[in-house]
Amino acid sequence: MSRALHDLSFAALEGELVADGLRPAHARALWRAIHRDGTGDLAGRPDFLPPLRRWVGERMGVEGGFCAELPAVHSETASSDGLTRKFLLRLDDGQTVETVLMGYPGRYTACVSTQAGCAMGCVFCATGQMGFVRHLRAGEIVAQVLHCRGVLRAGGADGLRNLVLMGMGEPLHNYDAVMAALEIITDRRGINLGPGRVTISTVGVVPGILRLAEEQRPYGLAVSLHGATEEERSALVPASRRWPLAELIAACRAYGLRTGRSIFFEWTLIAGQNDSAATAGRLAALLEGIDAHINLIPLNPTGNYSGQAASAEAVRAFQRVLQDAGFPATVRQRRGIDVAAGCGQLRAEREPARE
Ligand code: SAH
Ligand code: SF4
Repeated sequence: MSRALHDLSFAALEGELVADGLRPAHARALWRAIHRDGTGDLAGRPDFLPPLRRWVGERMGVEGGFCAELPAVHSETASSDGLTRKFLLRLDDGQTVETVLMGYPGRYTACVSTQAGCAMGCVFCATGQMGFVRHLRAGEIVAQVLHCRGVLRAGGADGLRNLVLMGMGEPLHNYDAVMAALEIITDRRGINLGPGRVTISTVGVVPGILRLAEEQRPYGLAVSLHGATEEERSALVPASRRWPLAELIAACRAYGLRTGRSIFFEWTLIAGQNDSAATAGRLAALLEGIDAHINLIPLNPTGNYSGQAASAEAVRAFQRVLQDAGFPATVRQRRGIDVAAGCGQLRAEREPARE
């Protein structure tokens, strides 16, 4: 077994090198190679001084040592407009996770996974339908960002500006690894993504939301709501029985007060389920007094759920009610629907039998 360098914070990496008799300057050079240059190939780098080259020769790729390979691409798809690329990446143990790169030249957003599968069981979500497989390690989250940046650089572009934790899995169910990954991803000596450009999306894990506020984490928060009454919500989001809507909204209010930040609320619009103007009115009442921005996402139909996307008219009417109540409400373009870009859908399509 070797340990992944991508899992280590800067301090931990420095500690490892110093323990092996190297100086902190060597840790800075190694960190730059891994995170700023994004290379997994550390042999023969001209910027490494002889002691670090020797360390790489002795400690990389050996039993009990370290490794720094990026995950292999199992498969890739691109939307017809070319603006969304979706990768199924294979991890060390053969598990696959989805990573999506979307955007326009100069401003790309990476959407990464935090777990293989998900334990929360939202009925319309392909990842929820596959169940929980395992948590990702910090380095496996970091590596997805490095992969996206590498793809952009290979195409002669850079400009990875935003990161959303909206791929497979529930980030606040894997809190420690996610926070460790975000510290690495926002480190100025390496990937250097602005913390304000990172958004954590949660199904509503109340203790996690309160902990984010308590620890004053500098990232944006998105809460997936999908229902404005407990009954409506728990039919779609079983986790609502564990963290009921009233508690979730109270936690969001506490988060807003403590951090002074606004909160994004995500709402998957399903025809005849949660897309009526009356529901929009209840949602506006529920969020009253919260500095909220609402993202409306017409459902991407999935294999094991019979619901259909809300009609364009219903989406517009829903949006209008929210806007009239004073909430910014945007409809998230279903870009990439032709690449099965809904969470978990590519893996479900490519590896239907794998559990
Ligand atoms: N577990 C986190 C983050 C990953 S899901 C969460 O639930 O927030 C990211 C977003 O995609 C969530 O808002 C989720 O409800 C939405 N989503 C999942 N499957 C979808 C589908 N088939 N159609 C539309 N939105 C979907
Ligand atoms: Fe998990 Fe989010 Fe999918 Fe729900 S929507 S099953 S929380 S990944």
